[in-house]
Amino acid sequence: MPMISGLEALERLREGNRRFVSEVSGRDEVSSRTRRTQLVAGQEPFAIILGCSDSRVPAEIVFDRGLGDLFVIRVAGNVVAPSQIGSVEFAAERFGTPLVVVLGHSMCGAILATLEELERPTENRSPNLRSIVNRIRPSVEALLETELKNDPDALVRHAVRANTRAAANQLCHGSQILEQLIQADKLLVVAAEYSLETGVVEFFDD
Ligand SMILES: [Zn+2]
Repeated sequence: MPMISGLEALERLREGNRRFVSEVSGRDEVSSRTRRTQLVAGQEPFAIILGCSDSRVPAEIVFDRGLGDLFVIRVAGNVVAPSQIGSVEFAAERFGTPLVVVLGHSMCGAILATLEELERPTENRSPNLRSIVNRIRPSVEALLETELKNDPDALVRHAVRANTRAAANQLCHGSQILEQLIQADKLLVVAAEYSLETGVVEFFDD
């Protein structure tokens, strides 16, 4: 079966999220024993999701998909480090997966930790956690120079968005392999945000 296009893959995710929100799941079938048996021979995931590790945002559930559908990379704050880029390259090249979604979410703890760190730098954060904060920092730092500084809720909302956009941008420009696939129209990279409050995934237009 030929792989679908990036836009078709995007539409599948939109439909899946609508099913999730309206609680009409088709997941029993897509995660059945029959499906599992079919997949032993190989996988053909139609989308790559780079999302946050937050327990409230499991990609397969919020997009109502099952075994073999999504190639999922999760890391706190959906940051893009070399191993994340490598994972995306792997799936895009090996399986011909036509779509990458960078999925941020409201009230992201990694963003909150970064804002906290910027406002009150601490010496005793572990270097490993610091490496995550340092990847988020550049996209949210500038927001503290604006009026958002006085509106904590709006600041977090904008910071989540800025970080998700920056991660998508980094995927587009941080790898020659991905850049070539994008130029050849074989890969679409989009940023999106999941709302903890409504369950809706909003895809950014740009
Ligand atoms: Zn998060």
